[in-house]
Amino acid sequence: MAEPSTTGLHAAWTFDPRPPRPDWGIALPAVKRLSTRGPIQPAPPPAEAVISLAHAQGIATPLVRPGDRVLTGQPLARDAQAAAHASVTGTVVAVESRPVPGSSHTPCVVVRREDPERFDPALRPVDPAVLTPAQIAAHISAGGIAGLGGALFPTGRKLRAGAPIRALIINGVECEPWISCDEMLLRERAAAVIRGTRIMMRALATEQAVIAVKVDMAEARVALHDALEADGSGSIGLAVVTARYPSGGERQLIELLTGEEVPAGGLPRDIGHVCQNVGTAAAVADLFDLGQPLISRIVTVTGGAIAAPGNFAVRIGTPIAALLAAAGGCRAEPARLIMGGPMMGIALADDALPVTRATNCVVAATAGELAPARLEMPCIRCGECVQACPAHLLPNELLGAVRRGDAAALDELGLAACIECGCCDHVCPSAIALTPRFVTARAAQRPPPGPGEDPS
Ligand code: SF4
Ligand code: SF4
Repeated sequence: MAEPSTTGLHAAWTFDPRPPRPDWGIALPAVKRLSTRGPIQPAPPPAEAVISLAHAQGIATPLVRPGDRVLTGQPLARDAQAAAHASVTGTVVAVESRPVPGSSHTPCVVVRREDPERFDPALRPVDPAVLTPAQIAAHISAGGIAGLGGALFPTGRKLRAGAPIRALIINGVECEPWISCDEMLLRERAAAVIRGTRIMMRALATEQAVIAVKVDMAEARVALHDALEADGSGSIGLAVVTARYPSGGERQLIELLTGEEVPAGGLPRDIGHVCQNVGTAAAVADLFDLGQPLISRIVTVTGGAIAAPGNFAVRIGTPIAALLAAAGGCRAEPARLIMGGPMMGIALADDALPVTRATNCVVAATAGELAPARLEMPCIRCGECVQACPAHLLPNELLGAVRRGDAAALDELGLAACIECGCCDHVCPSAIALTPRFVTARAAQRPPPGPGEDPS
């Protein structure tokens, strides 16, 4: 563990070739090279975009009806925290529940594309320097920006911090194997990430920010370093953290950077920090500088079954099948389609599901890339899961409480702090599926996230 300074922040957030290695987590093989050989490519806009109205705090209210004609970037739905926008020009053909990754019924607006594309004339760049912090946060909410790390927490809400914030932490750690969208974004658009960081610092009225990357992201680190030199302000630092999984978890990253732990049941803001993803920062820059709401995102398409793995700038609502086609299609029948990484991702029922704002990666895995099924054996109390747990929990004790259905013990053992990372399963010699049990138990116990909470 690194020594924190007296302010709780490191005196210098600069490149350390041997960043502190925590005593939690696991080492995973790096398999990002498959998708980082070429630049980010644009995926063709879909013939029909299925645009989810969901974010982590609810469902935006539709503003359109079937038959309405919409322009690219036009708001389709809005609530106080976020909005959803047309990712193509065309006609609304449905406003109804559709299956999306992770949910069988989510309210969506379906837009059939019509060429030529026309952008909403109301879209204009906005100078954040003339806005108050509250106005910046409101503009970000209206721009539909929600945590692009996958949590989809409305960014505007997270920026209405209330309490003083010592530092904004921009998370580019991307610690799951396979996923490389944040790394490629940093390599190619580091200046936009810095620009978005600066806008969010203004919204939070904080003088300090740090952008964190993983030690094995050499090209991203160099690009960021050069862009920070060009920026020249000195108020944004660059931190390099261990490649150990899950160093990119919000609470784990804060611990690595500051030596401080977010209190159980508390929020990063309780100790003076707010975390945002690098993709979110770039989206904020595009909203203010280009007038572009969140209508597309970068998605990694990878796995042994994919003909040409890579990263793609994809319109929200694009069917995953079309995205796979943009990556050359499948050269072998995938044994499993996964959205996200192998540790915390979700299996996809089929490739007709649409890309949402949360879709950071699609893995089309071959059978050889999947962990072989193992027979679950009794717990031998080896303690491996305790050692690996990044939330400092006792997974073996939690398992006993789950099996007994003992809700009080689950509370006492801190189940709520589980980040569902899968480390305990990964190290368990008895092949006990701990995390799926914890996911189910947490869903039964958990109240809705509080203000500013990022479920990631
Ligand atoms: S790693 Fe598995 S076998 Fe070992 S204590 Fe944890 S649950 Fe039991
Ligand atoms: S899934 Fe939960 S209990 Fe298991 S290692 Fe991760 S945080 Fe700990």
